Amino acid sequence: MSNIKRILVTGGAGFLGSHICDRLVEQGHDVICLDNFFTSQKSNVMHLLGRPNFELIRHDVTHPIWLEVDEIYNAACPAAPGHYQFNPIKTMKTSVMGAINVLGMAKRCRAKVLQFSTSEVYGDPEVHPQPETYKGSVNPIGPRACYDEGKRAAETLFFDYHRSNRVNIRVVRIFNTYGPRMHPFDGRVVSNFIRQALRGEDITIFGDGSQTRSFCYVDDLVEGIIRMMNGPDGFVGPVNLGNPGEFTILQLAEEVLSLTGSKSRIVHKAGLQDDPMQRQPVIELARSKLGWEPRVALREGLKKTIEYFRSIDMESFRAPTPNY
Ligand code: NAD
Ligand code: UDP
Repeated sequence: MSNIKRILVTGGAGFLGSHICDRLVEQGHDVICLDNFFTSQKSNVMHLLGRPNFELIRHDVTHPIWLEVDEIYNAACPAAPGHYQFNPIKTMKTSVMGAINVLGMAKRCRAKVLQFSTSEVYGDPEVHPQPETYKGSVNPIGPRACYDEGKRAAETLFFDYHRSNRVNIRVVRIFNTYGPRMHPFDGRVVSNFIRQALRGEDITIFGDGSQTRSFCYVDDLVEGIIRMMNGPDGFVGPVNLGNPGEFTILQLAEEVLSLTGSKSRIVHKAGLQDDPMQRQPVIELARSKLGWEPRVALREGLKKTIEYFRSIDMESFRAPTPNY
């Protein structure tokens, strides 16, 4: 029997989705990349367009689509705060209606479906570091709620389809991930600092810079996601995927300045509402069930990301929103 599967990647032209497509195409699978290009552009998957086992569809996941597939990676959703706050109602629709549509497809096709959930389901956590059992502290009416609550509702839908309809699900909670193909104007901290450093612009820290994040390099994350899709039967998650190395935002700024040799100044801007003060994954579950742990240290990953940002013409990127 052939091991070649027909696999749908929603949000497949985005930062993470395009790396997933790369891996699946290399493995010989038939890959359907579906995207509405809200926060990405074709350049992320241009190199795959001539491959016989790769197809690209422009489609919005809030609308149903009829496809026959064996597996679905559901990555479609704006992920950077400036992107998901641009049209918060659409963000919630993308999470919730997108989940309903892929789950319906998975039910009909008996496909396995993996949800790209997020550490944002933990909100501004009172438990540190965060294990999967922590239920979170999310402000349901704040500016981040469209994303956080949208992703929480999507997890609920995944588990209800699993319990009620026996859909074969997988749920991963992804912590801040960075690397080549991040959109240079997405407003996320790694892309912002590198872009600012390379252009000699001020490095903008929101607040005093003591808030922390744990940054995972994209290759490590993709390995974890693929392992989860192919992991042990019955292990549906949710499972944290992230790098436990925790840094303050000020430390990140200093690292980027040192690696780029930039003369940019660090400036402090007003802190953001509901900005989580700390974030660090507990990854024991991923270690024990998937044999996974990240390998790339922040400094090494940043070097590769800086190299990528040096290699692109940033002006050729369409900024999806004015929020960078
Ligand atoms: P991204 O913005 O680069 O990718 C998202 C992709 O989804 C884009 O190509 C965008 O055009 C597409 N998209 C958005 N709305 C859509 C819609 N309605 N229909 C079809 N396509 C749509 O962001 P990313 O970092 O690659 O994030 C991918 C997924 O991983 C998201 O679901 C995000 O919530 C999740 N995630 C990412 C991180 C991270 O640190 N990168 C952390 C946690 C979770
Ligand atoms: N941040 C910052 N300057 C920037 C962009 C972000 O200080 O130019 C901070 C932001 O306030 C947050 C952290 O960096 O505390 C991570 O922000 P990001 O938007 O990358 O992701 P998220 O908040 O969703 O983890």
